[in-house]
Amino acid sequence: MTGAGGMADEMVSRWIRPEIRAIAAYHVPPSAGLIKLDAMENPYTWPQTLIDDWLQQLGETAVNRYPDPAGSALVAKIREVMAVPPGQGIILGNGSDELIQVMAMAVADPARKILAPDPGFVMYRMIAGFVGMEYVGVPLRHDDFSLDADAMLSAIDEHEPAIVFLAYPNNPTGNLWDRRLIERIVAAAPGLVVIDEAYAPFASDSFLGDLGRWPNLLVMRTFSKLGLAGLRLGYLCGPEALLAEFDKIRLPYNINTLTQATATLALDNIAVFDEQADRIRASRAELATGLAAFPELTVYPSEANFLLVRTHAGDADRIHRGLLDAGILIKNLSSSGGLLRDCLRITVGTPDENGRLLGALASLLGA
Ligand SMILES: *Cc1c(COP(=O)(O)O)cnc(C)c1O
Repeated sequence: MTGAGGMADEMVSRWIRPEIRAIAAYHVPPSAGLIKLDAMENPYTWPQTLIDDWLQQLGETAVNRYPDPAGSALVAKIREVMAVPPGQGIILGNGSDELIQVMAMAVADPARKILAPDPGFVMYRMIAGFVGMEYVGVPLRHDDFSLDADAMLSAIDEHEPAIVFLAYPNNPTGNLWDRRLIERIVAAAPGLVVIDEAYAPFASDSFLGDLGRWPNLLVMRTFSKLGLAGLRLGYLCGPEALLAEFDKIRLPYNINTLTQATATLALDNIAVFDEQADRIRASRAELATGLAAFPELTVYPSEANFLLVRTHAGDADRIHRGLLDAGILIKNLSSSGGLLRDCLRITVGTPDENGRLLGALASLLGA
Protein backbone atom coordinates (compact mmCIF):
# COMPACT_ATOMS: atom_id res chain seq x y z
CA MET A 1 0.00 0.00 0.00
CA THR A 2 2.57 2.53 1.16
CA GLY A 3 4.86 1.48 -1.68
CA ALA A 4 2.23 1.99 -4.36
CA GLY A 5 1.17 5.27 -2.72
CA GLY A 6 4.75 6.46 -2.64
CA MET A 7 5.21 5.48 -6.29
CA ALA A 8 2.07 7.40 -7.21
CA ASP A 9 3.46 10.46 -5.40
CA GLU A 10 6.61 10.09 -7.47
CA MET A 11 4.56 9.94 -10.64
CA VAL A 12 2.82 13.14 -9.58
CA SER A 13 6.02 15.02 -8.83
CA ARG A 14 7.75 13.76 -11.96
CA TRP A 15 4.97 14.22 -14.50
CA ILE A 16 2.30 16.63 -13.29
CA ARG A 17 3.27 20.20 -14.18
CA PRO A 18 4.30 22.24 -11.12
CA GLU A 19 1.77 24.97 -11.94
CA ILE A 20 -1.01 22.35 -11.84
CA ARG A 21 0.26 20.93 -8.55
CA ALA A 22 0.22 24.47 -7.15
CA ILE A 23 -3.48 25.01 -7.93
CA ALA A 24 -5.98 24.37 -5.13
CA ALA A 25 -8.84 22.23 -6.49
CA TYR A 26 -12.20 23.96 -6.95
CA HIS A 27 -14.14 22.91 -3.88
CA VAL A 28 -17.89 22.24 -3.96
CA PRO A 29 -19.24 21.80 -0.41
CA PRO A 30 -21.80 19.07 0.36
CA SER A 31 -25.34 20.46 0.29
CA ALA A 32 -27.69 17.48 0.79
CA GLY A 33 -30.71 18.47 2.86
CA LEU A 34 -29.72 22.15 3.05
CA ILE A 35 -31.42 25.28 1.73
CA LYS A 36 -28.94 25.94 -1.05
CA LEU A 37 -28.12 29.63 -1.40
CA ASP A 38 -24.45 29.27 -2.37
CA ALA A 39 -24.26 28.71 -6.13
CA MET A 40 -26.57 31.21 -7.89
CA GLU A 41 -29.04 28.55 -8.93
CA ASN A 42 -32.61 29.45 -9.87
CA PRO A 43 -34.81 27.97 -7.09
CA TYR A 44 -37.82 27.41 -9.33
CA THR A 45 -38.73 24.28 -11.27
CA TRP A 46 -40.87 24.03 -14.42
CA PRO A 47 -44.65 24.10 -14.76
CA GLN A 48 -46.07 20.59 -15.22
CA THR A 49 -47.24 21.26 -18.81
CA LEU A 50 -43.70 22.14 -19.82
CA ILE A 51 -42.36 19.03 -18.08
CA ASP A 52 -44.87 16.94 -20.06
CA ASP A 53 -43.73 18.51 -23.37
CA TRP A 54 -40.14 17.97 -22.34
CA LEU A 55 -40.55 14.26 -21.57
CA GLN A 56 -42.36 13.82 -24.88
CA GLN A 57 -39.45 15.45 -26.75
CA LEU A 58 -36.79 13.52 -24.87
CA GLY A 59 -38.63 10.32 -25.76
CA GLU A 60 -38.21 11.18 -29.43
CA THR A 61 -34.51 12.03 -29.11
CA ALA A 62 -32.09 9.63 -30.81
CA VAL A 63 -29.60 8.96 -28.03
CA ASN A 64 -28.12 6.08 -30.03
CA ARG A 65 -26.73 8.71 -32.45
CA TYR A 66 -24.02 11.27 -31.83
CA PRO A 67 -25.36 14.78 -31.31
CA ASP A 68 -25.38 17.44 -34.03
CA PRO A 69 -21.74 18.56 -33.67
CA ALA A 70 -22.53 22.25 -34.13
CA GLY A 71 -25.90 22.23 -32.38
CA SER A 72 -27.27 24.08 -35.42
CA ALA A 73 -30.96 24.10 -34.41
CA LEU A 74 -30.11 25.34 -30.94
CA VAL A 75 -27.70 27.98 -32.29
CA ALA A 76 -30.41 29.27 -34.65
CA LYS A 77 -32.86 29.41 -31.74
CA ILE A 78 -30.37 31.32 -29.55
CA ARG A 79 -29.76 33.79 -32.39
CA GLU A 80 -33.50 34.42 -32.72
CA VAL A 81 -34.57 34.48 -29.05
CA MET A 82 -31.55 36.37 -27.69
CA ALA A 83 -31.38 38.73 -30.71
CA VAL A 84 -27.71 38.13 -31.49
CA PRO A 85 -26.75 40.80 -34.06
CA PRO A 86 -26.65 39.64 -37.70
CA GLY A 87 -23.16 38.80 -38.94
CA GLN A 88 -21.96 37.71 -35.47
CA GLY A 89 -21.12 34.06 -34.85
CA ILE A 90 -22.23 31.79 -31.99
CA ILE A 91 -20.51 28.70 -30.55
CA LEU A 92 -21.73 26.48 -27.75
CA GLY A 93 -19.84 25.29 -24.67
CA ASN A 94 -20.46 22.64 -22.02
CA GLY A 95 -21.08 25.48 -19.59
CA SER A 96 -19.44 28.84 -20.21
CA ASP A 97 -16.53 27.48 -18.15
CA GLU A 98 -15.69 25.31 -21.14
CA LEU A 99 -15.75 28.33 -23.45
CA ILE A 100 -13.28 30.13 -21.18
CA GLN A 101 -11.07 27.04 -21.47
CA VAL A 102 -11.43 26.92 -25.27
CA MET A 103 -10.46 30.59 -25.63
CA ALA A 104 -7.52 30.19 -23.27
CA MET A 105 -6.26 27.13 -25.17
CA ALA A 106 -6.50 29.05 -28.45
CA VAL A 107 -4.21 31.86 -27.22
CA ALA A 108 -2.08 29.87 -24.74
CA ASP A 109 1.58 30.79 -24.56
CA PRO A 110 3.74 31.08 -21.44
CA ALA A 111 4.74 34.60 -22.48
CA ARG A 112 1.13 35.78 -22.74
CA LYS A 113 -1.31 36.86 -20.08
CA ILE A 114 -4.96 36.72 -19.15
CA LEU A 115 -6.19 39.77 -17.27
CA ALA A 116 -9.32 40.40 -15.23
CA PRO A 117 -10.43 42.66 -12.39
CA ASP A 118 -9.97 41.27 -8.90
CA PRO A 119 -12.01 40.07 -7.01
CA GLY A 120 -13.62 38.30 -9.95
CA PHE A 121 -14.76 34.93 -11.25
CA VAL A 122 -12.27 32.32 -10.05
CA MET A 123 -12.29 30.27 -13.28
CA TYR A 124 -10.38 32.95 -15.23
CA ARG A 125 -7.42 32.54 -12.90
CA MET A 126 -7.70 28.76 -12.64
CA ILE A 127 -7.94 28.19 -16.39
CA ALA A 128 -5.03 30.56 -17.07
CA GLY A 129 -3.08 28.24 -14.74
CA PHE A 130 -4.29 25.08 -16.51
CA VAL A 131 -2.97 26.31 -19.88
CA GLY A 132 0.29 27.62 -18.45
CA MET A 133 -0.44 31.34 -18.81
CA GLU A 134 0.19 34.13 -16.38
CA TYR A 135 -2.90 35.67 -14.76
CA VAL A 136 -3.00 39.37 -13.95
CA GLY A 137 -5.65 40.47 -11.44
CA VAL A 138 -6.26 44.22 -11.37
CA PRO A 139 -7.73 45.37 -8.04
CA LEU A 140 -11.19 46.91 -8.02
CA ARG A 141 -11.70 50.07 -6.01
CA HIS A 142 -12.12 49.08 -2.40
CA ASP A 143 -15.07 51.31 -1.49
CA ASP A 144 -17.61 50.22 -4.12
CA PHE A 145 -15.95 47.46 -6.23
CA SER A 146 -15.99 49.73 -9.28
CA LEU A 147 -13.35 49.41 -11.99
CA ASP A 148 -10.26 51.52 -11.42
CA ALA A 149 -9.83 53.22 -14.80
CA ASP A 150 -6.17 54.14 -14.39
CA ALA A 151 -5.23 50.73 -12.95
CA MET A 152 -7.05 48.85 -15.72
CA LEU A 153 -5.75 50.95 -18.61
CA SER A 154 -2.18 50.99 -17.38
CA ALA A 155 -2.22 47.21 -16.67
CA ILE A 156 -3.51 46.58 -20.20
CA ASP A 157 -0.79 48.84 -21.57
CA GLU A 158 1.91 47.11 -19.54
CA HIS A 159 0.85 43.45 -19.92
CA GLU A 160 -0.77 43.47 -23.40
CA PRO A 161 -3.09 40.63 -22.31
CA ALA A 162 -4.22 38.08 -24.91
CA ILE A 163 -7.65 38.11 -23.22
CA VAL A 164 -9.36 40.52 -20.82
CA PHE A 165 -12.36 39.01 -19.02
CA LEU A 166 -14.99 41.42 -17.69
CA ALA A 167 -17.93 39.82 -15.89
CA TYR A 168 -20.89 42.17 -16.35
CA PRO A 169 -22.35 42.05 -13.69
CA ASN A 170 -19.32 40.88 -11.75
CA ASN A 171 -19.21 37.73 -9.59
CA PRO A 172 -18.81 37.85 -6.57
CA THR A 173 -19.48 41.59 -6.19
CA GLY A 174 -22.79 41.71 -8.13
CA ASN A 175 -22.34 45.17 -9.65
CA LEU A 176 -22.30 46.41 -13.23
CA TRP A 177 -19.27 48.49 -14.10
CA ASP A 178 -19.28 51.81 -15.91
CA ARG A 179 -20.23 51.17 -19.54
CA ARG A 180 -18.17 54.09 -20.91
CA LEU A 181 -15.08 52.77 -19.15
CA ILE A 182 -15.63 49.27 -20.54
CA GLU A 183 -15.88 50.79 -24.02
CA ARG A 184 -12.54 52.54 -23.44
CA ILE A 185 -11.03 49.23 -22.30
CA VAL A 186 -12.29 47.41 -25.40
CA ALA A 187 -10.87 50.15 -27.60
CA ALA A 188 -7.52 50.18 -25.77
CA ALA A 189 -6.98 46.40 -25.41
CA PRO A 190 -4.68 44.84 -28.01
CA GLY A 191 -6.21 41.39 -27.44
CA LEU A 192 -9.69 39.94 -27.00
CA VAL A 193 -12.15 41.39 -24.53
CA VAL A 194 -14.78 38.93 -23.33
CA ILE A 195 -17.81 40.40 -21.61
CA ASP A 196 -19.07 37.55 -19.42
CA GLU A 197 -22.82 38.06 -19.08
CA ALA A 198 -23.61 35.02 -16.92
CA TYR A 199 -26.12 37.17 -14.97
CA ALA A 200 -27.77 38.83 -17.98
CA PRO A 201 -31.27 37.58 -16.96
CA PHE A 202 -31.09 39.80 -13.85
CA ALA A 203 -29.17 42.80 -15.19
CA SER A 204 -30.26 46.13 -16.63
CA ASP A 205 -27.61 46.37 -19.34
CA SER A 206 -25.80 44.16 -21.88
CA PHE A 207 -23.11 44.38 -24.55
CA LEU A 208 -24.77 41.86 -26.86
CA GLY A 209 -26.10 44.68 -29.03
CA ASP A 210 -22.61 46.22 -29.18
CA LEU A 211 -21.10 43.22 -30.97
CA GLY A 212 -19.55 44.33 -34.24
CA ARG A 213 -18.53 47.77 -32.95
CA TRP A 214 -15.00 46.50 -32.20
CA PRO A 215 -13.16 43.56 -33.80
CA ASN A 216 -11.97 42.24 -30.41
CA LEU A 217 -15.31 42.21 -28.55
CA LEU A 218 -16.96 38.92 -27.56
CA VAL A 219 -19.98 38.30 -25.33
CA MET A 220 -20.37 35.07 -23.37
CA ARG A 221 -23.54 33.88 -21.70
CA THR A 222 -24.80 30.79 -19.92
CA PHE A 223 -28.10 28.99 -19.34
CA SER A 224 -26.96 28.13 -15.81
CA LYS A 225 -28.12 31.18 -13.87
CA LEU A 226 -31.30 31.43 -15.97
CA GLY A 227 -32.46 28.15 -14.45
CA LEU A 228 -30.71 25.33 -16.30
CA ALA A 229 -27.52 24.85 -14.29
CA GLY A 230 -27.83 21.07 -14.54
CA LEU A 231 -27.66 21.13 -18.34
CA ARG A 232 -24.19 22.69 -18.63
CA LEU A 233 -24.68 25.02 -21.57
CA GLY A 234 -23.03 28.31 -22.40
CA TYR A 235 -22.62 30.28 -25.62
CA LEU A 236 -20.10 32.69 -27.01
CA CYS A 237 -20.98 35.38 -29.55
CA GLY A 238 -18.53 37.42 -31.61
CA PRO A 239 -16.69 37.81 -34.89
CA GLU A 240 -17.01 34.73 -37.13
CA ALA A 241 -13.29 34.66 -37.93
CA LEU A 242 -12.36 34.28 -34.24
CA LEU A 243 -15.11 31.78 -33.48
CA ALA A 244 -14.05 29.61 -36.43
CA GLU A 245 -10.63 29.22 -34.75
CA PHE A 246 -12.17 28.47 -31.33
CA ASP A 247 -14.41 25.92 -32.99
CA LYS A 248 -11.36 23.84 -33.95
CA ILE A 249 -10.47 23.41 -30.28
CA ARG A 250 -14.01 22.74 -29.06
CA LEU A 251 -14.48 18.97 -28.85
CA PRO A 252 -16.84 17.89 -31.65
CA TYR A 253 -19.71 16.55 -29.54
CA ASN A 254 -19.37 18.78 -26.49
CA ILE A 255 -23.12 19.50 -26.26
CA ASN A 256 -25.06 16.30 -25.77
CA THR A 257 -28.32 15.50 -27.52
CA LEU A 258 -30.46 15.84 -24.38
CA THR A 259 -29.02 19.28 -23.65
CA GLN A 260 -29.60 20.44 -27.23
CA ALA A 261 -33.23 19.28 -27.14
CA THR A 262 -33.89 20.67 -23.66
CA ALA A 263 -32.37 24.10 -24.29
CA THR A 264 -34.23 24.47 -27.58
CA LEU A 265 -37.51 23.70 -25.78
CA ALA A 266 -36.60 26.14 -23.00
CA LEU A 267 -36.00 28.91 -25.54
CA ASP A 268 -39.36 28.16 -27.14
CA ASN A 269 -40.79 28.79 -23.68
CA ILE A 270 -38.54 31.67 -22.69
CA ALA A 271 -41.50 33.51 -21.10
CA VAL A 272 -41.46 30.90 -18.28
CA PHE A 273 -37.83 31.72 -17.51
CA ASP A 274 -38.27 35.46 -17.95
CA GLU A 275 -41.10 35.37 -15.43
CA GLN A 276 -38.92 33.41 -12.97
CA ALA A 277 -36.14 35.97 -13.43
CA ASP A 278 -38.66 38.75 -12.72
CA ARG A 279 -39.65 37.02 -9.48
CA ILE A 280 -35.99 36.59 -8.51
CA ARG A 281 -35.30 40.29 -9.15
CA ALA A 282 -38.27 41.25 -6.97
CA SER A 283 -37.04 38.88 -4.23
CA ARG A 284 -33.55 40.34 -4.54
CA ALA A 285 -34.91 43.78 -3.63
CA GLU A 286 -36.84 42.38 -0.64
CA LEU A 287 -33.89 40.34 0.57
CA ALA A 288 -31.55 43.33 0.25
CA THR A 289 -33.92 45.39 2.40
CA GLY A 290 -34.21 42.58 4.95
CA LEU A 291 -30.44 42.15 5.19
CA ALA A 292 -29.75 45.88 5.33
CA ALA A 293 -31.99 46.09 8.43
CA PHE A 294 -29.23 44.32 10.42
CA PRO A 295 -26.79 46.99 11.63
CA GLU A 296 -24.06 44.30 11.58
CA LEU A 297 -24.35 43.85 7.80
CA THR A 298 -23.52 46.04 4.80
CA VAL A 299 -25.32 44.99 1.60
CA TYR A 300 -23.83 45.95 -1.76
CA PRO A 301 -25.99 46.85 -4.78
CA SER A 302 -26.57 43.86 -7.09
CA GLU A 303 -27.66 43.39 -10.70
CA ALA A 304 -27.31 39.61 -10.35
CA ASN A 305 -29.24 36.85 -8.53
CA PHE A 306 -27.08 37.11 -5.43
CA LEU A 307 -26.12 39.69 -2.84
CA LEU A 308 -22.67 40.41 -1.48
CA VAL A 309 -22.75 41.23 2.21
CA ARG A 310 -19.98 42.52 4.46
CA THR A 311 -20.08 41.52 8.14
CA HIS A 312 -18.39 43.17 11.07
CA ALA A 313 -14.71 42.24 11.24
CA GLY A 314 -14.21 38.55 12.00
CA ASP A 315 -17.94 37.66 11.97
CA ALA A 316 -18.19 35.97 8.55
CA ASP A 317 -17.08 32.51 9.71
CA ARG A 318 -19.41 32.54 12.70
CA ILE A 319 -22.42 33.62 10.61
CA HIS A 320 -21.64 31.11 7.86
CA ARG A 321 -21.33 28.28 10.38
CA GLY A 322 -24.43 29.39 12.32
CA LEU A 323 -26.49 29.38 9.13
CA LEU A 324 -25.19 25.90 8.27
CA ASP A 325 -26.31 24.71 11.70
CA ALA A 326 -29.72 26.19 10.83
CA GLY A 327 -29.73 24.19 7.56
CA ILE A 328 -28.81 27.06 5.20
CA LEU A 329 -25.77 27.01 2.91
CA ILE A 330 -24.33 30.33 1.69
CA LYS A 331 -20.86 31.15 0.36
CA ASN A 332 -18.21 32.36 2.76
CA LEU A 333 -15.73 34.50 0.80
CA SER A 334 -13.81 35.78 3.79
CA SER A 335 -10.93 33.34 3.41
CA SER A 336 -10.23 34.75 -0.10
CA GLY A 337 -8.93 37.76 1.81
CA GLY A 338 -8.22 41.15 0.26
CA LEU A 339 -11.36 43.10 -0.57
CA LEU A 340 -13.48 40.04 0.29
CA ARG A 341 -12.38 39.72 3.89
CA ASP A 342 -15.51 39.51 6.10
CA CYS A 343 -17.72 39.05 3.04
CA LEU A 344 -20.51 36.52 2.42
CA ARG A 345 -22.33 35.86 -0.86
CA ILE A 346 -25.99 34.92 -0.68
CA THR A 347 -27.94 33.59 -3.66
CA VAL A 348 -31.50 34.91 -3.87
CA GLY A 349 -33.87 32.01 -3.16
CA THR A 350 -37.66 31.69 -3.03
CA PRO A 351 -39.49 34.12 -0.72
CA ASP A 352 -39.80 31.26 1.79
CA GLU A 353 -36.07 30.45 1.68
CA ASN A 354 -35.14 34.11 1.97
CA GLY A 355 -37.48 34.47 4.93
CA ARG A 356 -35.86 31.51 6.68
CA LEU A 357 -32.44 33.01 6.04
CA LEU A 358 -33.50 36.33 7.60
CA GLY A 359 -35.03 34.48 10.55
CA ALA A 360 -31.87 32.48 11.16
CA LEU A 361 -29.79 35.66 10.92
CA ALA A 362 -32.04 37.36 13.47
CA SER A 363 -31.29 34.54 15.95
CA LEU A 364 -27.59 34.60 15.18
CA LEU A 365 -27.19 38.35 15.38
CA GLY A 366 -29.48 38.59 18.39
CA ALA A 367 -31.88 41.06 16.78
C1 LIG B 1 -21.51 31.03 -12.92
C2 LIG B 1 -20.59 31.82 -13.78
C3 LIG B 1 -20.07 31.29 -14.98
C4 LIG B 1 -20.12 29.81 -15.26
O1 LIG B 1 -21.21 29.41 -15.88
P1 LIG B 1 -21.39 27.92 -16.41
O2 LIG B 1 -22.05 28.17 -17.72
O3 LIG B 1 -22.26 27.26 -15.41
O4 LIG B 1 -20.06 27.26 -16.59
C5 LIG B 1 -19.31 32.10 -15.79
N1 LIG B 1 -19.04 33.35 -15.44
C6 LIG B 1 -19.48 33.89 -14.29
C7 LIG B 1 -19.14 35.29 -13.96
C8 LIG B 1 -20.25 33.13 -13.42
O5 LIG B 1 -20.65 33.64 -12.25
